[in-house]
Amino acid sequence: MTRTQDVINPATGEVVAAVPMASVEETDAAVATAVAAFPAWRAVAPGDRARLLRRFADLVDEHREELAALEVRDAGHTIRNARWEAGNVRDVLHYYAAAPERLFGRQIPVPGGLDVTFAEPLGVVGVIVPWNFPMTIATWGFAPALAAGNTVVLKPAELTPLTAIRLGELATAAGIPEGVFQVLPGRGAEVGGRLVEHPDVRKICFTGSSRVGRSIMASAARRVKRLTLELGGKSANIVFADADLERAAATAPYAVFDNAGQDCCARSRILVQREVYDRFLDLLEPAVAAVRVEDPTRETSEMGPLISAERLETVASYVDESEVAFRGGCPDGPGFWYPPTVLLAATGAERSWREEIFGPVVSVMPFTDEADAVRLANDTEYGLSGSIWTRDVGRALRVSRAVEAGNLSVNSHSSVRYWTPFGGVKQSGLGRELGPDALTAFTETKNVFIATEE
Ligand code: NAD
Repeated sequence: MTRTQDVINPATGEVVAAVPMASVEETDAAVATAVAAFPAWRAVAPGDRARLLRRFADLVDEHREELAALEVRDAGHTIRNARWEAGNVRDVLHYYAAAPERLFGRQIPVPGGLDVTFAEPLGVVGVIVPWNFPMTIATWGFAPALAAGNTVVLKPAELTPLTAIRLGELATAAGIPEGVFQVLPGRGAEVGGRLVEHPDVRKICFTGSSRVGRSIMASAARRVKRLTLELGGKSANIVFADADLERAAATAPYAVFDNAGQDCCARSRILVQREVYDRFLDLLEPAVAAVRVEDPTRETSEMGPLISAERLETVASYVDESEVAFRGGCPDGPGFWYPPTVLLAATGAERSWREEIFGPVVSVMPFTDEADAVRLANDTEYGLSGSIWTRDVGRALRVSRAVEAGNLSVNSHSSVRYWTPFGGVKQSGLGRELGPDALTAFTETKNVFIATEE
């Protein structure tokens, strides 16, 4: 088997780098290095650990343009998205840089003594990430893990290792001690599989498909290994008749076509109340046509290509068997381009309605009333995010409580803010990232009782 992986620019099809893939033996060596680095890292004074993370964040900020350009090349992200992502890496590092000095335990009243809890680091954490948001998703794992005093081995996706490698270099330049944060490009079954199996890796923080997530959960069970799983989605965008229809229709394309639909939070099912269904489609058509699908290096680009030829084929297979309502445009020629596409779902049994397509394809279906909307929204194995468009506050709250998903937004499509918890229910995952509680996923609570009775 070849030991390097070509990194391809999805917008042109050109090879931009060949990255060596680590072996199982190299994975074991990286874990041994991380084990060796752990005692000293956990012993770094909280203020000093905070300072190192802040310096890392500052270096990311200084290299923001470079990181963004790298992500445009290796993942086909639009330059404006990629800049936001590099900024998000900086912000998440800054946010968790505040954590080491605030890793409080508790003092619990008990008879006969003093009881205190400590938030202890776990040890070595394996962070395994997908190709769709290579920089940000990696950071949501490694930043709180490092802040809590763990050492980290990060395995980027085969297709997009370049920004992760650069982040590893910036961490070293910031003074993060050797072995504390290692980036190990490699294949899923080899490096990823070994991290999951390795007895010295105490936790796996995995983002990727539900299929691989399930297999990781099964393997991790053998060692009762801690897990965070951020998996797939098939989120609903629910538009009630009383909503601001113009805004709902104008924003719906961006809620699913951003990153060419390769977004776990993509609102790929639009549910529209029947009395405004035709009007909504009339408004949606020009909004879809207006999405600028073009060379992602252009400042005006709103959507770039798909990640690979394989992904293009998969996405097209869903559309081939469905009724297309209308679609936008996309460039011809080299690269893995696919136009924004709107399908009409008739029964809800269609593959395109039920499966995560992970491409710029959305299906629209009418519903009758609030109960019907909730029933349809929940008729999926996934539960990651979703949007609710209504001017009725009571309904917004009722539906928010009734939809089975980890992250909902009302009259907006935002899912990810680093200040707030993010994660899924059902087959969308296990655990939460980001927000004030992320540290609990990278620490164990230790309880200590000290007798005061003579
Ligand atoms: P994937 O599951 O194929 O791969 C994800 C990562 O796991 C890669 O680094 C891969 O090399 C590694 N991997 C593969 N097999 C492995 C194994 N047996 N053991 C250990 N590691 C292994 O996913 P993908 O195609 O790269 O990404 C797309 C998927 O990710 C979509 O389903 C998407 O919804 C999901 N995703 C979820 C979130 C979220 O936060 N919920 C965010 C982004 C992407």
